[in-house]
Amino acid sequence: MQIFANNHKATATALLVLAGITMAGCSNSNRPALTEPVQVKAAETTPAKGDTDDMTAANESPAPTEYNKLTPDEERIIVGKGTERPFVGEYTDLHDAGTFVCRRCNAPLYSSKQKFESHCGWPSFDDELPGAVRKDLDLDGMRTEILCENCGGHLGHVFAGEGFTKKNIRHCVNSKSMKFYPEGTPLPPVVKKAE
Ligand SMILES: [Zn+2]
Repeated sequence: MQIFANNHKATATALLVLAGITMAGCSNSNRPALTEPVQVKAAETTPAKGDTDDMTAANESPAPTEYNKLTPDEERIIVGKGTERPFVGEYTDLHDAGTFVCRRCNAPLYSSKQKFESHCGWPSFDDELPGAVRKDLDLDGMRTEILCENCGGHLGHVFAGEGFTKKNIRHCVNSKSMKFYPEGTPLPPVVKKAE
């Protein structure tokens, strides 16, 4: 016991001396023992700092600014305001739960809860996700065109008063204007094009 106490004291003294030497070059402080534990603690928290860096990197990763690359046919519909042939679109008869996003910019447009069977040959929805869809008078001067609010991509047309659902609205949307993400799948980041 006595030996242990002596050894302990000797070690502590040696540390103090060593720390004093270390500190002498950069500080006039005569309390180097207080500095040592702080340095050790900093080293112990290095892994936590790594986690923070990872989170920071994720938060700082810039939102994509380039629209998704489109096939010529998708471009004809989304940019050229074209219409795909009826009854051939990949989502016309889809009944799975999930979200339909803009194929060009990933903005969420419709929920599968808003989809209904109209037998008109194109995917039909009786409402859009809040603020997702812009309505303009079509170039034909009669129909109402629907466009992605975020990127202005052409979606299709909207019709009222047909009596399909309680809401009495039918968004008639080209499958190629959208991309479907099943429920539980993370949605892609929305492309915000720089003006
Ligand atoms: Zn869009």
